[in-house]
Amino acid sequence: MDQCPFCHIDQIRTRVIQETPLALIILSNPRLMPGHILVIPKRHVEKPLDFTEAERKGIFDTVLAMQDKIMSVFSSGCDIRQNCRPFIPQSRVKVDHVHFHLQPREMEDELYHVSQIHEKQLWQDLTAEEMEKFFTLYRIA
Ligand SMILES: [Zn+2]
Repeated sequence: MDQCPFCHIDQIRTRVIQETPLALIILSNPRLMPGHILVIPKRHVEKPLDFTEAERKGIFDTVLAMQDKIMSVFSSGCDIRQNCRPFIPQSRVKVDHVHFHLQPREMEDELYHVSQIHEKQLWQDLTAEEMEKFFTLYRIA
């Protein structure tokens, strides 16, 4: 946590849009697309499962409120993403402190065009073996 930029508000203060009792909302840097923001819990946890019940509700309510805000003032769509990639060491572009990305989206925006390069591979139907593998792996007892 000593190296965590999201635990040291002085490192990100110039990018803070809003603060709630449980979270900071900041402009993302580096930005993946115009208007990309992050919702960052104030308490350092490395995966959402470590949230308290109050954090789960409060932080997710903030994420949804910001999605609604983005879609009412800036773009017609907004993706919400939370990465969990413990296999990548913390760096300038990867922070272990849980955070949620909110990315404004529009029809045929830059991400849409980049993803079209892989469209054929992305949209092939799953094989029966793939379906069985993940049905078995992801089933909750
Ligand atoms: Zn942290």
